[in-house]
Amino acid sequence: MVSEFEIIHRFFQRELAAPGVLLGIGDDAAILMPDAGSALVVAVDTLVAGRHFPDQTDPVSIGHKALAVNLSDLAAMGAQPRWATLALTLPKADEAWLSGFAEGFFALADRFHVALVGGDTTRGPLSMTVQVQGQVDAARALRRDAAKPGQHIFITGTPGDAAFALQQLQAGEAVEAALLARLNRPEPRIALGMTLAGVAEAAIDVSDGLLADIQHMLDASACGAQINVDAIPRSQALLSLDVESALTCQLNGGDDYELCFTVDADRVEQVYQAAEDSAVSIAEIGIIEPQPGIRCVHEDGSPCTLKVGGFDHFANNHD
Ligand code: ADP
Ligand code: MG
Repeated sequence: MVSEFEIIHRFFQRELAAPGVLLGIGDDAAILMPDAGSALVVAVDTLVAGRHFPDQTDPVSIGHKALAVNLSDLAAMGAQPRWATLALTLPKADEAWLSGFAEGFFALADRFHVALVGGDTTRGPLSMTVQVQGQVDAARALRRDAAKPGQHIFITGTPGDAAFALQQLQAGEAVEAALLARLNRPEPRIALGMTLAGVAEAAIDVSDGLLADIQHMLDASACGAQINVDAIPRSQALLSLDVESALTCQLNGGDDYELCFTVDADRVEQVYQAAEDSAVSIAEIGIIEPQPGIRCVHEDGSPCTLKVGGFDHFANNHD
């Protein structure tokens, strides 16, 4: 049986020197140094087995997702990712599982030059908490409270795919690999987020459902929005569904990890260019309005009457 210290040493402690890391794994705490002039941006997210990923999820995907959901929060702030810590709770020291988890985690960490600088390893029901630290010029950070009437609302990618994949899994149906990857391997929109800092206004990453998260942004900004539901890009997989089922996934489904952001009218062209430069598709889906609430309409202006509600761990609306 491998010990706690062997787990840390074998799977998580790497000998690489990383920029800004004055002291990494091995002491009581890490010592980190953001670049001069940058503010520190910190986010933390926990994944619990059976709640945030199905029990049968492969460990490489779990390692990827644990970091990806946090990087997505940094993207939504316009921040550059720098470091991460990992608190891992494991039912047992399963070496094959650990090596898969580390593979998924570090593959993503290396792509975004994120150094793992510490953590905690405990025994218990499978769950993991990752904290990420990034940096941003505080004056350019993308905040939820910066939406104002007249700004255009954009979304990246094709929301709703992860919810559709989860629905199929839960129904015991086969899920096409590309669709399953949208649930298990979300792609944090880091490059776009960093380019949008100082260009876009408000931003949020969509994790609880598009409308629920837009509402969070509107609450913080004390305004409302009109959303054209037909302008929300739909993947090939969702196009195979009837419109109402597809829209339900897109508006209410969680786990998208796409960026929703607002832009002043005179910056719209600049934003399309930023999206092209970072090879991320974006679509304009609505407009910020002064009166509170979200008004969902179709392309022809008629109201969309779908029942909506996002995910809340402590509300009665979940399973
Ligand atoms: P302490 O008891 O002082 O909190 P630990 O014995 O828990 O320290 O951890 C020893 C070192 O290993 C620390 O630097 C800690 O940050 C790091 N560490 C522990 N678990 C992990 C992990 N899962 N991933 C990365 N680093 C870890
Ligand atoms: Mg200690």
